[in-house]
Amino acid sequence: MTTIIRRFVETDTGHRVPNHKSKCRHMHGHRYRFECEIEGDVVSISGVSEEGMLMDFSDVSKILNEKIHDVIDHSFIVYEGDKDCISALKIMGDWHRTIIVPFIPTAENLAKWAFEQVSPEIKNNYDNKLKLTAMHVRETPKSWAIWRP
Ligand SMILES: [Zn+2]
Repeated sequence: MTTIIRRFVETDTGHRVPNHKSKCRHMHGHRYRFECEIEGDVVSISGVSEEGMLMDFSDVSKILNEKIHDVIDHSFIVYEGDKDCISALKIMGDWHRTIIVPFIPTAENLAKWAFEQVSPEIKNNYDNKLKLTAMHVRETPKSWAIWRP
């Protein structure tokens, strides 16, 4: 039987959507919430630490922290084609952290990016068919995107 667990991490991150028709073209930031969905079978091996679990929540958090939070928290994500923005950010030197990505950093694209960072880290330790099935990215309390391959 398949079970799903969900766990999230939050980051304070800046971005802009360069071709947007309205205010999203301005440099601004969000408290992003990246929430993963992991599917698999509950571990039934007697005596192991994960008995009765799909995966230890603390292990999921460690992955989300290393692969998402520590990479983009208190950073500004910018599309590699957004040359004017990259130039403007370079002026700020060391007191700013810029993450250049090959996509426009919308919630939809960040969900796919985060999925790709986390998916290889979901290891199948007990042959319980663990896999990342979705990544949710919330930009605001009213707006989020979900990537499911
Ligand atoms: Zn935004």
